[in-house]
Amino acid sequence: MRPFSYVSAPDVPAALQAVAEPGAKFLGGGTNLVDLMRQDIEHPGTVVDITRLPLTAVEELPGGGLRIGALARNSQVAGHPLLRARYPMLAQAILNGASAQLRNMATIGGNLLQRTRCLYFYDRAAACNKREPGAGCAAAGGFTRNHAILGVSEHCFAAHPSDLCVALAALDATVEVESTRGVRRIPIGEFHRLPGDTPHVETTLEADELITAVDLPPLPVAANSRYRKVRDRASYAFALVSVAAALRVSEGRVAEGRVAEVRLALGGVATKPWRATEAERALLGASATAESFAHAADAELATARPTPDNAFKIELTRRTIVATLAGLGKDSA
Ligand code: SF4
Repeated sequence: MRPFSYVSAPDVPAALQAVAEPGAKFLGGGTNLVDLMRQDIEHPGTVVDITRLPLTAVEELPGGGLRIGALARNSQVAGHPLLRARYPMLAQAILNGASAQLRNMATIGGNLLQRTRCLYFYDRAAACNKREPGAGCAAAGGFTRNHAILGVSEHCFAAHPSDLCVALAALDATVEVESTRGVRRIPIGEFHRLPGDTPHVETTLEADELITAVDLPPLPVAANSRYRKVRDRASYAFALVSVAAALRVSEGRVAEGRVAEVRLALGGVATKPWRATEAERALLGASATAESFAHAADAELATARPTPDNAFKIELTRRTIVATLAGLGKDSA
């Protein structure tokens, strides 16, 4: 690890001032940044410790939403009774990520910024456009079983690793950030970027902006929601495919058994947390049957660009979407 300066910020203005230093980075739980520093992937000149900032609360918003402080720990958020009742998919997504020890340290704000687990990104001997712009991509033609099939570019097709962010995408969360220029609110769908030809730029967050909170809108359909993760091991593994879904099926004579409301997002298969808008469009008003769910999955996966190593993800995604929605259909009937 390279030498760096350490600053512990007592409040938000002090944190914003300290991060204005070129090469400075915020340190929350440290569960990703410290690994990256140890491996010489990240080398901030100054680490600004923000763990003393008062951004840890989970609070009710008027109208039924929730505000999660950026420094709330993952385990604290997953156990919050209101969150578990109103947004079960989010609690399940968090509990499906990492290990209990990591969830006790990792923060919500940090989770939004965690970086890919592409093996070549961590191997400094391998070419990687994300680590070194313009260097090339060693994964192309390499081992790509865990890589993305949606949102890929010729410059990078690394999968986004977060579980939490997949649920946030399905819920239309908003990320609140602050800098010396003021407060900005970023819809979650605009927070993470597709790789395009600049895969090293992963979010729309500026270097001097601090994530202060994540807001969840009031969303009654989310009470009937689920996060389903398929992975190589039963725990402590990244998703091959994950699905965050919420569903409401109509009752009454006119539209009984039809999809009245649906939220769907995918993880493990895309370069950013992937809101499945094509599938949602296909599902609205359709009969809530396995056949419709499979048809919607096919609509979403029409643009998939798999490699021979990860082509299995297409069928696995399709089946996971169908199983998740079928389970929710039974619960909402
Ligand atoms: Fe780097 Fe992306 Fe290629 Fe992986 S897929 S080696 S992260 S450019």
